[in-house]
Formats: sequence, structure tokens, C-alpha cells
Amino acid sequence: MREAIILAGGLGTRLRHLVPDLPKALAPVAGHPFLHYLMTYLLEQNVDHFIFSIGYKKEAIIEFVNRNFQHLKCSFVEEDSPLGTGGAIKSALKYTSEDLVFVLNADTYFPISLNYFEAECRRNKFQISIASKLMEKPYRYGTLDVDHNQRVLQFKEKAEISSGFINAGVYALRTNLFEEEKMPEVFSFEKDVLEKKLDLFSIGSSKFEEFFIDIGIEEDFIRAQSLFKNMNINSKNKRALFLDRDGVINTLIPNDYVKTWSEFKFCDDVFLHLADFTKRFDFVFVITNQQCIGKKIITSDTLDRIHDMMLIELKSVGVILNKIYYCPHVTAENCDCRKPKTGMLKQAVEDFGPFDIQNSVFIGDSDSDIQAAKEFGLISIGKRHDKNHDAFIKTNPNYVIENFSSLKTIAKEIKI
Ligand SMILES: [Mg+2]
Ligand SMILES: [Zn+2]
Repeated sequence: MREAIILAGGLGTRLRHLVPDLPKALAPVAGHPFLHYLMTYLLEQNVDHFIFSIGYKKEAIIEFVNRNFQHLKCSFVEEDSPLGTGGAIKSALKYTSEDLVFVLNADTYFPISLNYFEAECRRNKFQISIASKLMEKPYRYGTLDVDHNQRVLQFKEKAEISSGFINAGVYALRTNLFEEEKMPEVFSFEKDVLEKKLDLFSIGSSKFEEFFIDIGIEEDFIRAQSLFKNMNINSKNKRALFLDRDGVINTLIPNDYVKTWSEFKFCDDVFLHLADFTKRFDFVFVITNQQCIGKKIITSDTLDRIHDMMLIELKSVGVILNKIYYCPHVTAENCDCRKPKTGMLKQAVEDFGPFDIQNSVFIGDSDSDIQAAKEFGLISIGKRHDKNHDAFIKTNPNYVIENFSSLKTIAKEIKI
């Protein structure tokens, strides 16, 4: 069973003048109460036990859920007086039966892959994992610093920095969290647990790039109206774009590897033409062979740092990557992930899919990219540059381009 705690007890003070008679979770957004979108998302993510923490105007929430989702397993935990986010989570944990539960605020929408979030939390053995998002000018939020194992090192107060990872308010928690560490009845999860007990609990984070909306903020509430109207929330036909890295995003260094950030040189057309193409897809991934790790030429930490810098630069020109998958193995290891094998593509589907594969695209500059793309059933685009003249003769991609400026024409042709 997959369980989620939905914190719906908030007073909604900041929205009160716009939505006077309703709890924030039921504020109308493009014709539906906000909670409708959140529930639709959670159902898509295979949540099948919903635990609502309710307080302010709780009857309205119970009635809405019972009327619209009567066939679902729902529990209601009522607060007689405000318990703070921590107190609310602590009482709701009593209703869980699994070892891990997701916690979400009923007034934010951040449609991340719970499969992926859970897998990372379990793999890293975190007791608490925070879904974070890279945000530019995150002045309104505090940011978090993580180490290379995704463990949170510190929380920073609202600061004048140009970009940083914010806590998006979605958590994966071990349900036995407060069994040993006694907490009071009323406390804040953010202030009293996350910020004060970093040494006591193992707290980590997963990075996500989905859009984030907090309707408790008037500006976002207004933005949500048009955003949700234009969004096909129930679409099962999500399209993914897979990009090779070397020779596609950055220029290839013949017979060598990118070992430092200063050796990483973006291809010029990435800045000019890639953003427009990526925006036509629901998900964008990098799928790259990095044998340099297996050969011990660079460490995976160094590679992660290079990729963090790459993410920030790409984001500044509007190219948003959902995840970078890399194969660290050398050819001789004969792993399942090194292209032309399709292990990394399979992993992306498992983490973020299902996708409409036939209408998803792979762009690469070598035969192994095109082979993997074809094997997987993707539309393949071969990128030609001055160092791969002999590529694509045998593999014959669906399209061959010299420059990303041609992507506009291809987009039209394949109707995306
Ligand atoms: Mg390449
Ligand atoms: Zn591999």
C-alpha cells in the first residue's frame, strides 16, 4: 500500500480575502477545488491510503472527500487546536500501516515521481527525505545545502543568493520517526525537526524539476488559475526527450574526457535553440556513458559537481532537465546500462514513466546512441559535428541534423 498524509488544517490567512468561506485546500482553481488536482496527481502516483490532517473548516474537507472519492481508503485526523506541522504529522503517523509515508501540504502542487522519490529515500537509508527544487532568486524561501550523498548539511535562512535548492514541502518519512525521539504535542516540522535535529535524524533530499505552486501565496493562486486550465493533468501520454551529453550538449574532446568544469564547453546551439524544443516534452533526461568513472580518471563526486554546474547553466537558458543518468562502467564490464544497451532508458521509464515511447525522442552523436534509441522504439536524431564524420552510416537515424536550429522543422514534422 502507498500512503500519504495531506496537511489540510492550515488557516489560510493569506488567502482569506480571496476565498473567505473555504479552507485553502478547497480554494477554487480553474473550476475545481484545489484538492481535486492534488488527489488526481496522488492517484496517478498509486497512492491508495489518504490520511487527512484537518482543523480549520474541517467539515468542508470531509464532505468534499466523501462526495468525490468515496471509494478510496481515507482517514481523517482532526485537530481541535492547531498542532503545528510537526504535531499534525505526529498524530497522523498513528494511522499509517507501512514503514514509509509521503507528506504533502494541501495547498502546494509539486507533481514529482513518488516511485523515484521513495527509491532514493530507501537507497540512501534516510529517515526523512525532502523533495527539493532548484529555484532562481529563491528570496522567499530558505535553501538547503546537501553533500554528494544527498544528505542535508544545513538549512539557510532566506538569503539573497542567485539560485539554490528550496524545500518544496513534500516529504518521504519513516513512520517510526517519533517513536524514540519524543516530541511535544505542538511543534513545527520545519523549525523543530528539520532545522534543529539534523544531527539526530538522517535527513536527505532528492532534487526535482517539476513546476511548483503554493496557492497560499496570492501571486501563485492567481497564476494557478491559467496554469491548471491549460494543463492536461490526466494525460497518460507523456513524452520524453533523451539527450546524449558529449557531442550533443557539450563539445566532444577526442580521445579524452571532461574532467573538470573548465573543460566543459557547451555547444553554441544549446543556448540558442534547445529550450524551445525541450518545452514540447513532459520530461527531459540526459543519458550518458561516463567510462571515465570506471577507469578512475575522475570520481563520481567530481562528475556530480560538473553536472550541477551544467544544470544551473542550462536552466538559465530555459532548458530544464529532470534527471541525468550516467553509466560509470567500462566496456569490459558488459553492464546493462552502457549504451547501446538500454538500461538507463528503462530506468528513466521506471522512475518517471510511463511515456508515450513512439513519440519520444533521442538525440545523440554516435552509433551507440542511435542503436539504443532504435532498440527502445524512440524517434532517433543523429547530431553531426566536425568529429563524427563516420557516424550514422550503419545505424541510419530517423533524422540527421547539423545544428539544433533544425529541431523546429523536425518538431513540425513529427507533430509535437
Ligand atoms: Mg556523445
Ligand atoms: Zn553501466
